[in-house]
Amino acid sequence: MGDGTPASLTARLRALPAVHALAAALDGPRPAAVAAARWALEERRAQLRAGTDDPAAGEDLVSRAGELLAARERPSLQRVLNASGVIVHTNLGRAPLPVAAREALARVAEGYSNLELDLESGTRGSRQDHVADLLCELTGAEAALVVNNGAAATLLAAAALGGPGRAIAVSRGQLVEIGGSFRIPDVIAASASRLVEVGTTNRTRVADYARAVQEGAAAVLRVHPSNFRTVGFVEEVAIEPLCALGAPVIDDVGSGVLVDGTGPLAEEPSVARSVRAGAALVCCSADKLLGGPQAGLLVGRADAVARARAHPLARAMRVDKLGLAALEATLRLHSDPATARREIPVLAMLAASKEDLDRRAELMAATVGPAGEVVTACARVGGGALPLVELAGPVVRVDPAPLGADDLAARLRAGDPPVLGRIRDGALLLDPRTLTGAEAELAARTVRAALDG
Ligand SMILES: *Cc1c(COP(=O)(O)O)cnc(C)c1O
Repeated sequence: MGDGTPASLTARLRALPAVHALAAALDGPRPAAVAAARWALEERRAQLRAGTDDPAAGEDLVSRAGELLAARERPSLQRVLNASGVIVHTNLGRAPLPVAAREALARVAEGYSNLELDLESGTRGSRQDHVADLLCELTGAEAALVVNNGAAATLLAAAALGGPGRAIAVSRGQLVEIGGSFRIPDVIAASASRLVEVGTTNRTRVADYARAVQEGAAAVLRVHPSNFRTVGFVEEVAIEPLCALGAPVIDDVGSGVLVDGTGPLAEEPSVARSVRAGAALVCCSADKLLGGPQAGLLVGRADAVARARAHPLARAMRVDKLGLAALEATLRLHSDPATARREIPVLAMLAASKEDLDRRAELMAATVGPAGEVVTACARVGGGALPLVELAGPVVRVDPAPLGADDLAARLRAGDPPVLGRIRDGALLLDPRTLTGAEAELAARTVRAALDG
């Protein structure tokens, strides 16, 4: 170590190797090695200037640059083990795909496909043809259109049925924000329509909508308040009386429950019910409770879907071939409810049996070792769906000592693979509901290794 004087600092900075000399000592492709060498040198210079360099690390810049090079070669987007118990976790990519969807996606990714080719006639086809009939069969709709996510579906619906000089009526109780920049008043503005607010925050009646329609509203938009609930002195209008008013209704149901569900799914509005009621366009996401890839669905009346299809925004929002392949496969699974519950991971997790969860939790606790014990806690659906539903079940409570729970969580996020649990009362909880059997085992071993240092 130097004596801390400016002269010795300058001398030590000067003594650092040149970028190219350090890069030459690394084993890796040239541009990546140069970048890693540059980072390592910048890091060391900053440490020297701040006086925080570790004397024990000596001048071992080569191994530090090697570490940085290895880190750079790991993919940024990677597999994560979700032990959080949140089934539709937006930050973790929402729905894991069913096997059939993964296979369909790989087949289409590998080579060319008939994405926009009608194989029978040899003429140009529409990419929508691969899923439109399935969506109509599943929901009872006359027509369907797929775009790249749920937000796009709602914006396109508002633009197609509203637009310049036209008003869209929305209940004040449904002027919601659904994550980030998706706020209904802003969506209406972006569709170039005029927003007409009806009713109040807590109570909106049919008569409120009827007045807006008499005054010339071109459409009514109903939005499912996905991730919050109002309770107490509240009133909102069901889809049936709303459609009976005669104006085109856009119904953004959000989570993509296609037909009236059972169990916890019964609490979510279904696409089929809104179609039966006569909604012009029903919008939802495909990667929430539908359990498929990221996509947005619009189904409903033929004239309304045709307007959406013809709108210039439709092309800007079009679904890609990989998503389309995965969506088609997922929709086919939905044709049989029992198959859907077995094969679609999101639905299987919702319906997981207590015996299965108990078995996985016991196995995880045993693998984690003395720091792990099985307790009962509640998983959440997530993704803005079913905010009040709590899925009680066994979880593994991990005592992080001597680490704090936050430190253990940080170590697990840095793991290979990263593991995401949830922290409660100073302990880390690992929820088997959102892990497959193999993942549960791997997550528990990763936790064990993190505890052992
Ligand atoms: C989630 C959600 C959206 C947005 O869908 P994305 O697929 O996330 O773009 C829009 N409306 C409602 C009611 C939702 O729940």
